[in-house]
Amino acid sequence: MVQRTLETLVRRGEPLITVQGYRVVRSRGPIDGQGNRTVFSNHSFGTALDINRDLNGLYDRCVQFGPECRLLLGGHWRPGVPGTLEEGGAMVRALTALGLRWGGAMQGRQKDFMHFSYTGY
Ligand SMILES: [Zn+2]
Repeated sequence: MVQRTLETLVRRGEPLITVQGYRVVRSRGPIDGQGNRTVFSNHSFGTALDINRDLNGLYDRCVQFGPECRLLLGGHWRPGVPGTLEEGGAMVRALTALGLRWGGAMQGRQKDFMHFSYTGY
């Protein structure tokens, strides 16, 4: 279903540059003695995907998006640039209509603009 939706968006001219779904990574939960997260990400179970990461970074210190936000992963988020995911944009509307939640709309200190997931964030 996600694949068909993405294919439809691409046919309509939406810039889809990169998609990454399944990868095994611990990026959630408490931090261990080495500073690493200890709980598997939704990506580890194939229930999350990242789109156009070079244009839709993961930020922290970012309750509200602004210059104080710190980029952790991916590229800078610049609304209006083709391939950038935005609230109300075709890509975000189509994927959230499938029941996915968008990381750019996360409450709290992180904004993960590339990220979509079924099971929360
Ligand atoms: Zn992700």
